[in-house]
Amino acid sequence: MTPPPAPAAARIDLHTHSTASDGTLTPAELVRAAADAGLDVLAITDHDTTDGWAPAVAALPPGLTLVRGAEISCRWYATEPAVALHLLAYLFDPEEPELVAELARVRAAREVRGERIVELLRADGIDVSWPEILARAAGGTVGRPHIAQALIRAGLVATTTEAFGAAWLGERYRLPKADIDVFRAVRLVRAAGGVPVFAHPRASRRGPIVSDELIIELAAAGLAGLEADHEDHSPAERAHVRGLAAELGLFVTGSSDFHGTHKTVRLGAFTTAVEAYERIVADATGVTPVAST
Ligand code: AMP
Ligand code: ZN
Ligand code: FE
Ligand code: FE
Repeated sequence: MTPPPAPAAARIDLHTHSTASDGTLTPAELVRAAADAGLDVLAITDHDTTDGWAPAVAALPPGLTLVRGAEISCRWYATEPAVALHLLAYLFDPEEPELVAELARVRAAREVRGERIVELLRADGIDVSWPEILARAAGGTVGRPHIAQALIRAGLVATTTEAFGAAWLGERYRLPKADIDVFRAVRLVRAAGGVPVFAHPRASRRGPIVSDELIIELAAAGLAGLEADHEDHSPAERAHVRGLAAELGLFVTGSSDFHGTHKTVRLGAFTTAVEAYERIVADATGVTPVAST
């Protein structure tokens, strides 16, 4: 099942979401869409869950290599207010008990937060239903994109982007969730044999971002890479991330952060160099990439 090395010209997208969290394609549809988009390597990185791994592996089309991963909801708590950040984790052991427990705790915290956001909306006379939102998430990790869909169904906003504006989920009805301390997450991913990469570290349009000093501390704590090429980074921010990674000896990745119709970005819109992919594979001791036979 372990795939051969990727060719030098491989198209590699290391950050995508399925219905196991807040994407709109099932894991099986996602791997088929990745092959159709001409990708050679795809990582499935649903928020705080590995539930999409098995169905993605089962549906893997010929010629596509799957990197099993997750995007972990983290927070840097040493500042006031704490800053939310996302850690991509690749090829970790999905049964490592401490990590499994933390992911389950964060998923539960997401449900608590989601229900409280809905209570705030309802208190303002906005008719959205938490049981319906939860039912439509269908067991996948629930997030604000699911609430955004409820606002669209109610005719209150036209698009997900509008639902994430300041009048709605971006500010007025934004609540924090009980994320994992980012240093603990880096340690847990490494302890599970995984490779941690900081997702969209300069994506300031989503909220406050962390300083380079924190990234330096995270690198010392075991961070392996930085996601440079992402639609939420300007060209200058991408260049800055590359420079910082080079200084710290980290690799850089590029990826679509595909969410199906919850976002406009297409699979493979940004890609990762084969050298970075090979560093992830070489560093990981949890699970291997999978290719269909
Ligand atoms: P949550 O994890 O519940 O806090 O929701 C954050 C998710 O919403 C992330 O996966 C983002 O990709 C997505 N998201 C954040 N901002 C936007 C936006 N402006 N438009 C669409 N999706 C967004
Ligand atoms: Zn998402
Ligand atoms: Fe993210
Ligand atoms: Fe993401």
